[in-house]
Amino acid sequence: MTVFSRSVEDLPRRPDLAIVGGGIVGLWCAERAVRAGLSTVLVEAERIGGGASGGVVGALMPHQPVNWSAKKQFQLDGLLSLGDEVAALEAATGLGCGYRRAGRLIPLKDQSQRERNESWGAGAAECWARRGDFAWQVLDGNPAHGWLAEEAAASGFALETLSARISPRLLGAALKARIEGGVTVIEGVRVADISRDGGLRLGDGAAIRPGRTIVAAGYQSFGLLAALAPSLKGQGVKGQAALFRPLRPADPSMPVIFDEGVYIIAHDDGTVAVGSTSENDWQDASSTDGRLNAVIERARAICPVLRDAPVIERWAGVRPKSDTRHPVVEAHGDSGRVIVATGGFKITLAVAHLMADRALALAGLN
Ligand SMILES: Cc1cc2nc3c(=O)[nH]c(=O)nc-3n(C[C@H](O)[C@H](O)[C@H](O)COP(=O)(O)OP(=O)(O)OC[C@H]3O[C@@H](n4cnc5c(N)ncnc54)[C@H](O)[C@@H]3O)c2cc1C
Repeated sequence: MTVFSRSVEDLPRRPDLAIVGGGIVGLWCAERAVRAGLSTVLVEAERIGGGASGGVVGALMPHQPVNWSAKKQFQLDGLLSLGDEVAALEAATGLGCGYRRAGRLIPLKDQSQRERNESWGAGAAECWARRGDFAWQVLDGNPAHGWLAEEAAASGFALETLSARISPRLLGAALKARIEGGVTVIEGVRVADISRDGGLRLGDGAAIRPGRTIVAAGYQSFGLLAALAPSLKGQGVKGQAALFRPLRPADPSMPVIFDEGVYIIAHDDGTVAVGSTSENDWQDASSTDGRLNAVIERARAICPVLRDAPVIERWAGVRPKSDTRHPVVEAHGDSGRVIVATGGFKITLAVAHLMADRALALAGLN
């Protein structure tokens, strides 16, 4: 058990707020709680900054700008505001988060893919232009020569300028530093049960009776709240990733490559992350296997700097996916005292700070 800032004996039993889970959503909730001056306890079964949020990829990519919806607007708001949020976090902690609005490059395989991307260009002009100077263009020439292989793009290149990337681990470390001293963090202890009034029973037998409880336990939120919030439906989807260290550090200004479900990201430290697979049926949350090998081979085929680069890490995690595929932030329990914040599927790193704002608003705490 790790407790920041107080001894275990001083653990507040009746804090304003309890947060269950210290992945990216729980950490942003804790950051908001610090800002609001709340007495807060965060309980994490393993270690904070881990879970699905402890990986290496970190793409911040928009949905396609067509069939505009509240979900797409929420994500656009997240993508547009995250840079300032990260800058403030970096200033407060002195720690970098590896954020850059690098854009995204998509190799186009055939004419129909090209036409779809041209239509998204028109959609971007309509949906994104209201909030920023971002575009989705189709190009004949390769804008990232040497980074994306020409032969991967028989019908040209799509480049959109809204996408960004971040280092999930550096972001987690900065948020951890930001909340240290302001939040009581208990690591290595599982919340076993949550009552309708938000009371927590911990795996070690201790009880906490907070004013409000936010459940940000990733995919495990669905099981934890099955009795209390039967309308909350979702599952865990496994993904796998690898980290390369190219012989010459990769240029960190390169756009995120996105090709048929494979992401390739050049990070600030010269490493390159690739991922992922989407596995609905899985047994072991943390093992990697031949599906990751296939992703690595695909990445090597389309990104020349990876061809002779060693893989320095293989990683797997399980991401939460609500049945609607939307981020879920909603209140349950007596008088809405239990708020769940989970389920953003592939986009959570871009919207977790906004999910935290909503969660605290639902709790009446911001
Ligand atoms: C390979 C891979 C690549 C990905 N790439 C991207 C990407 O490029 N961009 C993007 O935006 N997203 C990406 N994602 C998805 C993203 O990582 C997740 O959606 C996000 O991290 C989920 O954050 P979370 O805080 O909801 O859950 P988690 O990060 O899983 O955190 C939940 C925490 O709750 C804890 N917990 C669970 N149960 C309990 C309990 N009973 N008591 C106490 N603690 C508990 C867990 O230990 C965990 O630490 C990727 C995921 C994977 C697996």
